[in-house]
Amino acid sequence: LDTEETRVFDADVGRILDIVAHALYSEREVFLRELIANAADACDKRRFLAQTDEALAEGAGDPAVTLVPDAGARTLTVSDTGVGMNRDELIANLGTIARSGTAEFAKKLSGDAAKDGSLIGQFGVGFYSAFMVADEVVVETRRLGEPQGWRWTSDGRGGYRIEPIARDTVGTDVILRLKEDAAEFLDPWRLKAVVKRWSDHLALPIRLDPRKAEGGKEDEGVETINAAQALWTRPKAEIEPETYTAFYRDISHAFDEPWAVIHNRNEGTIEYTNLLFIPTERPADLYEPERKPRLRLHVRRMFITDDCEALLPGWLRFLRGVVDSADLPLNVSREMLQNTPLLTRIRQGLVKRVLGELEGRAKSDAEGYARFWDAFGAVVKEGLYEDFENRDRLLGLARFRSTAVDGWTSLADYVARMKPEQKAIYVMVGDSVEAARVSPQLEGFKARGLEVLLLGDPIDGFWTMIAPDFDGKPIRAVGRVADDELAAFPKVDADGKAAPETKDEAAEGEAGIDGAALADLIGRALGDRVRAVRPSARLVDSPACLAAGSDGPDPALERLLARSGR
Ligand code: ADP
Ligand code: MG
Repeated sequence: LDTEETRVFDADVGRILDIVAHALYSEREVFLRELIANAADACDKRRFLAQTDEALAEGAGDPAVTLVPDAGARTLTVSDTGVGMNRDELIANLGTIARSGTAEFAKKLSGDAAKDGSLIGQFGVGFYSAFMVADEVVVETRRLGEPQGWRWTSDGRGGYRIEPIARDTVGTDVILRLKEDAAEFLDPWRLKAVVKRWSDHLALPIRLDPRKAEGGKEDEGVETINAAQALWTRPKAEIEPETYTAFYRDISHAFDEPWAVIHNRNEGTIEYTNLLFIPTERPADLYEPERKPRLRLHVRRMFITDDCEALLPGWLRFLRGVVDSADLPLNVSREMLQNTPLLTRIRQGLVKRVLGELEGRAKSDAEGYARFWDAFGAVVKEGLYEDFENRDRLLGLARFRSTAVDGWTSLADYVARMKPEQKAIYVMVGDSVEAARVSPQLEGFKARGLEVLLLGDPIDGFWTMIAPDFDGKPIRAVGRVADDELAAFPKVDADGKAAPETKDEAAEGEAGIDGAALADLIGRALGDRVRAVRPSARLVDSPACLAAGSDGPDPALERLLARSGR
């Protein structure tokens, strides 16, 4: 099938092209980011194939992308020395919606041209964004290991043409015949600015060939216009926030801004660099049962794996980023990735870094920290249960809902509000914060003006069972507070002043009934189903509630265990 052929686009591509045609003027420059990203991917693929197959190694030595603006022809060419495409790949990749990012974009479309157009800046929509600036796109390409070259041509309306061509080199040229109003992309300065903004984080050299640009001269040299150095190896001070963001989005396939960037070179017994990102929004895989961390491990800049569980504890799995160590061997084995003292030390170092960053942020940016806690608090609290070493620092970082204040509160703030004679921090664990808030268990605490923290995440039942101390005060579930401990606090009225007890109440309970006799009666009626029925100080409005024995598990935890089948 070495002949010319005309084909129509997939229906979904048609929809994307429609949006692209109406893209906002200001968003158009992202086409270059998308084409450069594809070129970089193609170079990576080629390098990978060359590593695994010697026959393909030839010519793989110089991966690069070159931008060639041609003022005479009104074209901009994005040329790469990557893997190239054969005929079938051209049809599959540039005629349908191949990738998840583009499909994601298609899902978010609202039908409102302006709104959808502005999504382009975030998503890019890949190759098809070329049609924002070009009324014709020509792709000339030759696949690695194959002799035949191919040309793909389209005006981005109904379909495209495919034909065989003679081509000497492996790789791809994407030639854009620029629209009347897109001449700015012939200007070398404009191209440099766009590359700086969107693609500076790429380690691949991006070059500019200025010879055919407006005013360009034949003897001008091709220059490299990005930093062309792995981002994490560059000094922090030189890196723009947008560059970090672009890198973060690239490696995590996310579209939000990173909330925090933690970039350090660590020297000492082991040498490694970390570039970690705390996302603003929850990644989609956050609650997958594997609880796998997603950091990328490099050894001297070579990518090794993004599946290395030993690199981070599960409760930090929302982090994204890169760790690069000079001290690991290049051919690290799977066993080594599971458990080596070297990785354990790197993990400890990373955890310390992140804890330090969070502590700093909690102080300097309480509002941002509250949003962080909204998104990731439930995951961080897993560390209270399983990371004994860092429990105290995690307790300091934890935030809670409370019966006394709106919004999040810390344990330190709770302790500052405690009554002088109060010894423990009281918490109520429910199926949700709202369920905890209305529990009858709280009545006796409210009546005595005692603040209770309200916990509603599944993990809360686990770590509270360990009953850790904070600042020397035990954290105690209200269900486990003994009656006399509670009764020792005087009741207060709505203003927090001591409410005088009526004679009646002291003698025989509020309704004038003998509490002990009634409890005895109910106890006999319920028989074996309960261990004991007791008159209690914890209730004010409700007639009865379930309470845990001081040795049994918390009722909320029992329900949780039952739900999860344990
Ligand atoms: P994505 O890059 O997310 O897959 P794109 O729309 O940008 O989506 O590209 C679609 C596909 O076309 C790519 O996955 C790749 O297979 C192919 N492709 C695009 N540009 C090139 C290129 N310069 N070299 C080789 N393949 C390419
Ligand atoms: Mg792409």
